[in-house]
Amino acid sequence: MSDSNKNEDILEDILEEDTSENHNEEDKKDESEYEQVCFVCRRPESKAGKMFRLPNNIFVCDDCMHKTMDTISQFDYQGMLNYPGLMSGFPGMTGSSDKDKNNNGDVPNGFPNISFINLSDLQGDGGIPNKQKLKRKKKDKPVIDIKNIPAPHKIKAQLDEYIIGQEHAKKVISVAVYNHYKRVATDTMDAIEIEKSNMLMIGPTGCGKTYLVKTLARLLDVPLAIADATSLTEAGYIGDDIESVVSKLLAAAGNDADKAERGIIFIDEIDKIAKKRNANNRDVSGESVQQGMLKLLEGAEVEVPVGANSKNAMVPLTTINTRNILFICGGAFPDLEEIIKERLNKKSSMGFNATLKDAHDKEKDILSQVTVEDIRKFGMIPEFIGRLPIIYTLDGLTKDMMVKILKEPKNAILKQYQKLLELDEVKLEFTDGALEAIAEKAMEKDTGARALRSIIEEFMLDIMYEVPKDDNIGKVTITEEYIKGTGGPVIEIRNGGSAE
Ligand code: ADP
Repeated sequence: MSDSNKNEDILEDILEEDTSENHNEEDKKDESEYEQVCFVCRRPESKAGKMFRLPNNIFVCDDCMHKTMDTISQFDYQGMLNYPGLMSGFPGMTGSSDKDKNNNGDVPNGFPNISFINLSDLQGDGGIPNKQKLKRKKKDKPVIDIKNIPAPHKIKAQLDEYIIGQEHAKKVISVAVYNHYKRVATDTMDAIEIEKSNMLMIGPTGCGKTYLVKTLARLLDVPLAIADATSLTEAGYIGDDIESVVSKLLAAAGNDADKAERGIIFIDEIDKIAKKRNANNRDVSGESVQQGMLKLLEGAEVEVPVGANSKNAMVPLTTINTRNILFICGGAFPDLEEIIKERLNKKSSMGFNATLKDAHDKEKDILSQVTVEDIRKFGMIPEFIGRLPIIYTLDGLTKDMMVKILKEPKNAILKQYQKLLELDEVKLEFTDGALEAIAEKAMEKDTGARALRSIIEEFMLDIMYEVPKDDNIGKVTITEEYIKGTGGPVIEIRNGGSAE
């Protein structure tokens, strides 16, 4: 027997031992005493879950195996990875059985020593189907019935109950949504195809952009996915793929593809994917994301994993058509005002009617004069803006609006606290002065209405802590002095007395 043959036999023996189902007693004992550790991330089975068993007693956890598969599948250079004969002889690996082909030096172009592994062979429990497409359930009733779409004024009236101010935005969104769902419900309109009413919402932070969309989705009872444009990158780079927004929507629709196809996707911080100025490197999170989103916005068939957020061999896929998904993009667009002012000043400083150069500097609602050209200048590509035909702005919140936000919406913060204390049979009141003082404090923080909750929570903490202690307390009034730190709340005892 030649040396090489001998070696081969030994190797074969070892491999057979490794993968055979009938391990000897000692092996079994070992397995029960020791945990398997992932060869890649070194986590034990108790942390990483079930392991894949590879030849030579190598174990790899589920996560690492998926990551490897994902990486390999991105680099499948002209199918080279499937070159038959590579890694042959290893049970569980695909490839032909001509064991020594790669040793003979006649290896055609290919990746030496890399081959696809059949995951189902390795798991040994009958296997998991590689990629299966989920069948859609047929439904008799459409999700949105054309007769049931509320008219724009009704949609707006409902929004009014929750959102303070932003009249223009509420009006635009109500009409756009009405038209959108009318289009969805009728599907095709003979020769006249109604275009999609994707929207671009511009407004400072905390002025209610997300809240508006959330409220709308709840009122219409359609699934909503909220994604952050900052985390999106071109496919293949670290970050979320653009298509991941569609999988989020599918998850929000409870994996019901038909429902998801009529949902709303809100992409926040859209201004963060503006074209980078003077960028030398490849712009994987800016312009490329805009490019990548074009197809989605317009309507494309996207394959998305069901019940997971990354595509790999183990998750079933389903196809979602984005044609009827309403895309709403929102962003604060800082510096956009400067661009608008520059344009306005340029226009008015020419010709006989020229006014002072800085005449527009002090105008308040500059943002509402935005044009497509300004947004393009900001760094959004024309094709992208073109797919968001409805552009509108939201106003920055004023002190008066803040006070109203505190007390008027259906689920206003004050109402929430009043309800909480009511359960203890205690009445809670805020004086007008107190509300204004809270609004002023919130204005200083410059984060819009988001600051209101944190401020109120800070002041209510002591009250929520002390009140349940004393059964005699019947009413608590929050005063301006308490908010400003110069006094305390007025506490009234049930029998009519008062204490401070
Ligand atoms: P952004 O514009 O940054 O998306 P959000 O919509 O997240 O801001 O607003 C934050 C919170 O502030 C909301 O959850 C909501 O409670 C409150 N809020 C903001 N604007 C309004 C408004 N116009 N009316 C009522 N509540 C508002």
